[in-house]
Amino acid sequence: MYFYRIVSFLLPHQQVASCYIYTLLSQNCTPMKKPSLLVTCGLPYTNGRCHIGHLRTYVPADFYVRYKRRCGVDVTFICGSDNHGTPIVVSAEAENTTPRALSERYHHHFDVTFQKMQIFFDRFGMSDDPTNRHRTTDIVTRMINAGYVYPKVIHQAYCPRCSRFLPDRYLKGTCPHCGKQARGDECDQGCGKPLAPGELVDPVCTICGTDAEFREQEHYFMRLSEFGSELEGFLERLKGTENSRNYAKGWLREEIHDWCITRTLDWGIPFPGRSDLTIYVWVDAPIGYIAFTEEWAKEKGIDWKEKWCSDDCEITHFIGVDITYHHCLFWPAMLHAAGYRMPDTVIASGMVKIDGQKFSKSRGYVVWANEEYLDRGLSADYLRYYLLSYTSHTKELNFSWGVYQERINNEVVNTLGNFVYRAMHFAYKEYGGIPEVAPQNEIFSQIQETLDSIQAAIESYEFKEAVDAIMALAAYGNNYIQNSAPWKVKKTDPDAAQQIIADCLQLTKALTILIDHVMPEHAKKIWDLLGVTTPLSETSFSDVLTPLFGNAELKKPEIVFQKLDDDLIKGFEEILKQRIEALAAGEAESERDKEAKKDMMKSEGIKAPQPPCISSDASEEQEQEGGRPEITIDEFSKMELRIGKILEAKGIPKSKKLLCLQVDIGREVRQIVSGIAPFYAPEDLVGKYVVVICNLKPAKLMGVESYGMVLAAGDEAVLLSPVAEVPVGTLIR
Ligand SMILES: [Zn+2]
Ligand SMILES: [Zn+2]
Repeated sequence: MYFYRIVSFLLPHQQVASCYIYTLLSQNCTPMKKPSLLVTCGLPYTNGRCHIGHLRTYVPADFYVRYKRRCGVDVTFICGSDNHGTPIVVSAEAENTTPRALSERYHHHFDVTFQKMQIFFDRFGMSDDPTNRHRTTDIVTRMINAGYVYPKVIHQAYCPRCSRFLPDRYLKGTCPHCGKQARGDECDQGCGKPLAPGELVDPVCTICGTDAEFREQEHYFMRLSEFGSELEGFLERLKGTENSRNYAKGWLREEIHDWCITRTLDWGIPFPGRSDLTIYVWVDAPIGYIAFTEEWAKEKGIDWKEKWCSDDCEITHFIGVDITYHHCLFWPAMLHAAGYRMPDTVIASGMVKIDGQKFSKSRGYVVWANEEYLDRGLSADYLRYYLLSYTSHTKELNFSWGVYQERINNEVVNTLGNFVYRAMHFAYKEYGGIPEVAPQNEIFSQIQETLDSIQAAIESYEFKEAVDAIMALAAYGNNYIQNSAPWKVKKTDPDAAQQIIADCLQLTKALTILIDHVMPEHAKKIWDLLGVTTPLSETSFSDVLTPLFGNAELKKPEIVFQKLDDDLIKGFEEILKQRIEALAAGEAESERDKEAKKDMMKSEGIKAPQPPCISSDASEEQEQEGGRPEITIDEFSKMELRIGKILEAKGIPKSKKLLCLQVDIGREVRQIVSGIAPFYAPEDLVGKYVVVICNLKPAKLMGVESYGMVLAAGDEAVLLSPVAEVPVGTLIR
């Protein structure tokens, strides 16, 4: 069949097409090439640590890549970290660092964690790096030039107290679609819809809690509404799991709106021609897939366009189902608008539960990949096994330590581990190596059947079924050795015993190659014990059917799969339980605090509390630890704390709580408004030595200016004083 493919038909715009037209290709005039596949994984956001929820997407992607490579496919495996957007700015502000420094720290963290989990990307880039900045600017410029972007004046939320526009996570409010609490750019607690600036109902500033106002500002929109038929066609062609396709089709039917692609934020990639606007993070993050491929290709001396602009490479995205909207509607529309081809496959994993409860960092239902797993010596392979085999890829996965222990011990250790050890042990002890007997046909047909099942399962993205097929082969081997009892048969029929062991070793070889995709570290150990001359990484699927003898020298067997004992698992259950309880207690506590504060503010007529600390949901780390984040001595020394002496104290009209103090801090006398009226008579305060924070941003309380704060402890506002006499104005350090 002559099958001419011209890439340019996918490129609607002449000015774009010229640089991307690829040579006319035909299957019979180009030399046989390995099929080419580009696999990407959703980019982890550099604003928090890696947890099991992340790994649910990356482990199956890695499994898929290992499988495809063993099938002989030329796979490029690309990922990177997502560094822009408001949550990172908010966290960086809270930690008194820069968004770039924060991003680099978490970027490194994810990079190392993935490697420990035996997930090896060909490139793990950063979306803030120059390649992505350049590629994003280029793609947005192409979209503008092609007429797909237009300016529009919108009502943008603005905090009068913080004097800033409030994009995305700087806002909390009510979802206009479902009425649940939502963030500025996404209904995260309810219907999951992305929200455009200005859509959120009753928006509140997350920095200081003030009701946001709306001010007019010019932003840029992408004409997404014009892509309806292109997207419909795209979703018809799209391969992968049904969940994402169906969600996207549903959204498309409901009518699709134009998409605001700019934000008022310093951190990010500037919008072409507008120094005051930044490109929305959901535009530049997926473009990272292209940029990171470019970085990889440059290193290899390959043209990246072979992957992104040629019909010869299939593009597959692994994502969590929660980012379907972005990958099945926004992203293909962007690619199409800029003259690129659209992706071929989207594989979306279901969400993760912990102990049957909705995954939640703030409530403690989380398992941290390093601190609560890898760093405590647990096997990356065991977690890979659990994540792959627990349930279908698209369904909700529940992690509980009890189930984890049971499945690893029963399936991995007692079935697979027991079988391979017994086979190798018997061969080594009785024959000093691999018996020179060809395995029976029955064994080869069992292995072949397993291979067929695995292939069918993986091609339909049913990774659990693939792992189950491997474990069924292990169970077959375990039953075979148990029922045929070579240790008994040997006494009466030595040849038959040899045959059984040759069969079992062939099964062991096949199992080792097959579990290499699931549990690579353990597979490597078994392979070394089998003493096969070909390295495991160089084997193909045909090797499962080639006999072992002649090219392997069995070593003294060891137990490869270790059992998880009860005490160990109880320890992990305890960590989880204590955290959940502590956070629940803390929440109750802080709820009471909030109520008390609200009452006080009501009676004082104060609109919002002072803004010294970021609201708790702004920093996942802070929320997670249940305390404030660690600070350095440098950060502490930024606070100007001095000994002051109260010279004058008087009440404020209409306020029961506030006193207006005149405090001598050495170089000047400061007016400070303090909420200590319920606990002190003004005249008792005069002459008292106190601790003053002098460089706090001034604030107005009940219409009275306050230039600092006196430090006090606890609910009764006990003032802090030096225990010995020190001169007024002495710096505290
Ligand atoms: Zn909603
Ligand atoms: Zn504010």
